[in-house]
Amino acid sequence: MKYFFLTNFRKIHFLFLLIFFSYIFPALSEPGVSIFMYHRFGEDKYPSTNVTEKQFLSHINYVLDNKIKILELEEIIMTLNENKKFHEKAIAFSVDDAYSSFYDIAWPVFRKNNIPVTLFVSTDIIDKKTKGYMTWTEIKKFVDEGGSVGQHTSTHLHMPLNSALVIKDDILDSHKSWIKNIGFIPKLFAYPYGETSNEVIKILKEFDISNAFGQHSGIVSSYDNKYYLPRFSLNEKFGEKDRFEFAVNAYSLDVENFLPTDMFLIDDKPSIEFSIIQNLKDNSLDCFSNTDGKWDKQEIINIKKDRVQIKLNNSYLSGRARLNCTVKIDQKWHWFGYQFLVK
Ligand SMILES: [Zn+2]
Repeated sequence: MKYFFLTNFRKIHFLFLLIFFSYIFPALSEPGVSIFMYHRFGEDKYPSTNVTEKQFLSHINYVLDNKIKILELEEIIMTLNENKKFHEKAIAFSVDDAYSSFYDIAWPVFRKNNIPVTLFVSTDIIDKKTKGYMTWTEIKKFVDEGGSVGQHTSTHLHMPLNSALVIKDDILDSHKSWIKNIGFIPKLFAYPYGETSNEVIKILKEFDISNAFGQHSGIVSSYDNKYYLPRFSLNEKFGEKDRFEFAVNAYSLDVENFLPTDMFLIDDKPSIEFSIIQNLKDNSLDCFSNTDGKWDKQEIINIKKDRVQIKLNNSYLSGRARLNCTVKIDQKWHWFGYQFLVK
């Protein structure tokens, strides 16, 4: 009886603590996951999609030396699907397009250090045995050695600029190639050029694809749209140690009810609005965007408590447009990023 009472007392005590902390913790930030995206390694001819070998090794050494938690992309999707939070600051690595330089230079380093990495592959380029890209034999070997793969369409098309029929045929073609060459269809998906739209997301859902990665900067948290997950793109300019370390240690800036609702814009000067979940504690939010083809600080108007409107100082040019917002709260930088495709 005494034992029974004690056990129940402990249970009630525990429940009380659980309820107590669930009220306290939302006020604290969810650190989130910084996902990095590479393309080429040691291919100096392509600085906008390349990192030097030295830069790459400095990234790997930094995360190992500082014992940064590294997740697999599959774990991130599982956490999101289960509506769980990312309480511990973590990072993840991905590589797009399967260039040979990934296999020759980066994969041996990831593998040796037991660091998970996902390779997003556009199948048609590999089917055509394109020079400078991995072969299916190499991709199969990469999978057998513990690498993870993801879908990246068949022909690396600009998805929002194509008809539903073309997109569906393209995805079906890539699925056939995956089955033929690797034996399964990967669950993960990344948009070519990070470009999507509500129409494209609808098609992914028809294919039972539960998630998709873009290539806009930002940190993944439980508040993110599972069909538009941010990744920090690393190249020679943005691969320097300082910027990498900043992105590793940045926290998520969580927003909701983001407007406009479609990532594909007809209007080149949209009204951008969103609500911020965190308490900014009077710290100033800064937003930068590449209006008129150049990066500029944008005017922010508080339209309601916790809801802001970005007054763009210029129109966007046709093509990819990006927005990056940061704020420093309690010595931690919080980051939110977004990408539009402007018609
Ligand atoms: Zn790509």
